[in-house]
Amino acid sequence: MEPTKYIWRDGALVAWADATVHVLSHGLHYGTGAFEGIRAYETPQGTAVFRLTDHMVRLARSCKALGIPVDWMPDDLVKASKELLALNGLQSGYIRPIVFYGTGSMGLNPAGALVHTFIATWEWGAYLGEEGVRDGIRVRVSSWRRIDQNSFMPNAKGTGGYVNSVLAKTEALRGGYDEALLLNNEGYLAEGSGENLFVIRDGIVHTPPVTAGVLEGITRDSVMTLLREDGITVVEAEVTRSDLYYADEMFFTGTAAEVTPIREVDDQPVGGGAPGPVTRRAQELFMGTVTGKLDLHPEWLEFI
Ligand code: PMP
Repeated sequence: MEPTKYIWRDGALVAWADATVHVLSHGLHYGTGAFEGIRAYETPQGTAVFRLTDHMVRLARSCKALGIPVDWMPDDLVKASKELLALNGLQSGYIRPIVFYGTGSMGLNPAGALVHTFIATWEWGAYLGEEGVRDGIRVRVSSWRRIDQNSFMPNAKGTGGYVNSVLAKTEALRGGYDEALLLNNEGYLAEGSGENLFVIRDGIVHTPPVTAGVLEGITRDSVMTLLREDGITVVEAEVTRSDLYYADEMFFTGTAAEVTPIREVDDQPVGGGAPGPVTRRAQELFMGTVTGKLDLHPEWLEFI
C-alpha cells in the first residue's frame, strides 16, 4: 500500500505516519468498532465516489447496532471523505472510515472510553487480481461457519466480526484457493470472506437473503438493481451446497472485489469453467455505471 499524505482524525487532518492509536485502545483488545470500504472512480465528469452517502449511512447503522456513539453525522463524513481524496491527489481510490473505542476503559464495558473516527484513502487495484476479474477465481467452501445472528451481527460491519473472515480467507489461501465461501449454521450459503455471492442457474440469478447471515452489500444491491432493470430475474433465496455444483455461473460482488467471476468451486469447474454471459453483463453494467460510462444511475455517483 502506498501511503497518501493525510488521514482524517476526529475532524482534523494528520500526516499518514501520525495517524496512530494507543496500545490500550478498547477496540484493539475487544474488536469494538465499525468500518466501511468505499471506492472512488475516475469518470468523464471527474472523480466520483460510488454511493458514498449510502456507505456512511451504513456505518452509522453499524455503530448504532453495536451501541457505539458517533460524534459525526453521515453528511460530515461524506464531506470529509471528498476533501481528503482531493487533498491526497487521488483521482480514484479506496476510502476506509473506521469508528472505534480508544482509551479510557480497559474492562469490557466501554463506558468512559473515547470514540475515535478516522478516514484513510489510498490507491487500490483489483482486490482479487486483474486476472481474477478477467478469467474468474477459484474458491472453496470454508471449514469455518459465518458468524451467527445469535452471537454477533453479520449485517453490521463490526471490526470484531472480521476475525471470522480472516480465518476463512487465510485457510482458503493456504489451500491454494483465491477466496472462501462460508456456510451459515443452518448449512446454507452465506457469502465470501468480504463479498456477497451470486449463483446463476438456467438464466435466473440467486443471491442469499440477508437472513442467511450476510452483509447487506451496496454492490449486491447495485448489481441486483442493474440486472433487474436489464430484464434479468434476480431472486433472494437460500442457496444450498449442491446449488454451487449445479450452477452455470457464479460471481462475487463487493466494493473491493467489484464483480469477480468464480470459475471453480471445490476443485470443480463452474459451468464451462469460464465466466458466462450473465456474469459478463453484470460486470459491464456495474463497471459502466461506477465509471460514469453508462448513465443508468447518476444518483449513485457523488462527485468530489
Ligand atoms: N460481505 C462482507 C462480509 C464484506 O466485508 C463486504 C465488503 N464490505 C461485502 C459483503 C460486500 O459489501 P459492499 O458491496 O457493500 O462492499
